[in-house]
Amino acid sequence: MPISAPLRRPVRHRQVLSERIITMLGILWALPLTLLGALLLMLPTLLLRGRIDVVMRPTPALLVRGPLADRLLEHHPFGAMCAMAIGHIVIAQRQGLTARVLTHELAHVRQAAHWGFVFPLVYLAASFWALLHGEDAYWNNHFEIAARRAEQET
Ligand SMILES: [Zn+2]
Repeated sequence: MPISAPLRRPVRHRQVLSERIITMLGILWALPLTLLGALLLMLPTLLLRGRIDVVMRPTPALLVRGPLADRLLEHHPFGAMCAMAIGHIVIAQRQGLTARVLTHELAHVRQAAHWGFVFPLVYLAASFWALLHGEDAYWNNHFEIAARRAEQET
């Protein structure tokens, strides 16, 4: 038997409310990482002719780009990158940011929201686990595989 519209609406409203609460808890849980990213990457990038954009969907994040971000990502210790995420901060190259790259980084933002301030540790543990099994620390890292899967779903 179909549910009438007046009965369905409160269920939808509760679902939206619970999604917003979960999002807010994720932002708070990852806040130490976000603050670290803001201090080390966002502020210096903004001070040197950078710009910031707010991303709301599918995951809230601050997207930071500028000459300093370009330089830092080109000379990343693990190799040149077009973007990276720390907490809810995504820094990206001005030229290399595509919808696919942003989707990948927002997957990392969701991972940080899930794991909170221990995310860097579990990320490194996943790389170590891959190395222990004779695999590549980046390409076979569980979190990178999940982020690449997210790219395919868009
Ligand atoms: Zn990644």
